[in-house]
Amino acid sequence: MSIEQDVVSLFHETYGGEPDIVVRAPGRVNLIGEHTDYNGGFVLPMAINRAMYIAVRYMGGEMVELVSGDFHHSAKFNLNDFEYQNPHWCEYIKGVAHALKQRGLPLKGWEGAMMGNVPRGSGLSSSAALELAAAKAFSEVSDFNWDPVDMAVVGQEAENNWVGVNCGIMDQMISSCAQAGHAYLLDCRSLEGQQVPLPEGLKIVILDTATRRGLVDSAYNERREQCEEAAAFFGCELLRDVSPEQFEARAEELPELTRKRARHVITEDVRTLAAAEAMRKGDGETLGRLMDESHISLRDDFEVSNDALNRMVAIARSQPGCLGARMTGAGFGGCAVALVKEGFEDAFTETVVARYKEESGLEPAVYVTEATQGAMRL
Ligand code: ADP
Ligand code: MG
Repeated sequence: MSIEQDVVSLFHETYGGEPDIVVRAPGRVNLIGEHTDYNGGFVLPMAINRAMYIAVRYMGGEMVELVSGDFHHSAKFNLNDFEYQNPHWCEYIKGVAHALKQRGLPLKGWEGAMMGNVPRGSGLSSSAALELAAAKAFSEVSDFNWDPVDMAVVGQEAENNWVGVNCGIMDQMISSCAQAGHAYLLDCRSLEGQQVPLPEGLKIVILDTATRRGLVDSAYNERREQCEEAAAFFGCELLRDVSPEQFEARAEELPELTRKRARHVITEDVRTLAAAEAMRKGDGETLGRLMDESHISLRDDFEVSNDALNRMVAIARSQPGCLGARMTGAGFGGCAVALVKEGFEDAFTETVVARYKEESGLEPAVYVTEATQGAMRL
């Protein structure tokens, strides 16, 4: 059975009767453009074939009632009187309701059954999928206009201000704005995006190292500070505004660490734009090479990789049909992403899993994925 059917069954078992609609919003993987978002630069994510689904019945009134099939748990809250409780899955939905109410949108109540197959906490953004699915449910039930960019901001506000996680805007933008078969070149400063078709004959494969980032908030904040410092040296607010030529001309004057951090961000923006261009031309070889270069830059200059990610990338890279591979996400654990020629993906998956297990003793997860549509009513 499909997850869409499962969520309808869960609805039926929980509330009796049928839902009026089912909504879906996807998780994502970033193909290239890492640690560029907070520097006002470019990212190139795509929505994956794993998503959050909510089966919804319009109720009117003030109550939202929910059941989570994945947590075997139910919750409800009053739209006109709710507060933050424990940090758990329902807080994401309340956070979305809160952000929508702040926009003055009149919200109506609903009953919902939810299930998702975005792995949680793997860096594929199950949280953005949940936020955008909730926003979609509210927009259908309350019948307000769906503005994809504004709804992405709603999701981010829910996560930043209600749940209390300091995330950027990329995850919500791609979960909201994605077009099937395309990646999305996003300018993180203007929030302008362009749909970029994925070339034919290529597969995007996600490789979860089964390592998770530990206490890395301090490392993350340190990177941000180093980037700000470098931008200030060049008289700019954001590294986005420092051209490679400007950087090269004065790089020697920077302390080594600041120089390395800035070099990653400045060259990564160039690679990300070049990757989008390569995709438009159907040039998988170039796209793969740029992904390889991105990994090396993240490993050596930005220093946010770890042994597991480096091992996974090296194993992936040595397989037939693999055009490129890199760590994806903030780093220090989580997933890598590989570009693989169609037809090679099954053998690739089998060998990479076996070799990674043998070398690391860890059990990896591999997802051969497809670029799917952003938040929608099915
Ligand atoms: P990720 O990298 O997957 O976004 P986060 O820690 O940001 O990890 O978000 C995970 C949280 O999102 C979970 O702890 C849960 O509260 C919520 N969530 C994700 N998937 C589901 C789901 N299928 N059902 C209910 N809540 C979910
Ligand atoms: Mg998240």
